[in-house]
Amino acid sequence: MIKYNLLCKKCELTFDSWFASSKEYDKLKKKKLINCHSCGSLKVEKNLMAPKLISKNFSHRDEKNDLTKYQKIKKTINEYQKFIKNNFDYVGENFTYEARSIHYEKKKNNKGIYGTVSKQDLKELKEEGIDVQLVPWFENKNN
Ligand SMILES: [Zn+2]
Repeated sequence: MIKYNLLCKKCELTFDSWFASSKEYDKLKKKKLINCHSCGSLKVEKNLMAPKLISKNFSHRDEKNDLTKYQKIKKTINEYQKFIKNNFDYVGENFTYEARSIHYEKKKNNKGIYGTVSKQDLKELKEEGIDVQLVPWFENKNN
């Protein structure tokens, strides 16, 4: 079902009408089966609501902007990830354990480490004074 706001060109009445589809509207229009609710005139047209069209264009533009912004951010993060991958050791789920080893046993590790950590573990590590940085991470399916 599709709702059209219709405008009578004769008496300028606007009213809403439901149609099964835009095709049905065209069919009924051709058969002169759409007439004004008030004066019965057949000079009834779809009422193009300008404000709606404008807002549609605006939102379209915003979407485009958001997309470019998103791609820029993603590119930055991708570069960041590349840097981390090249300069840090991946420890995966062992992150909490490895971070503690480095901190408490003064384990020699020229490289930093990166991996996954739960929110709770992250909180504990920070409380223990272990320097942990959270970085946004995109899963890269090509790797
Ligand atoms: Zn009318």
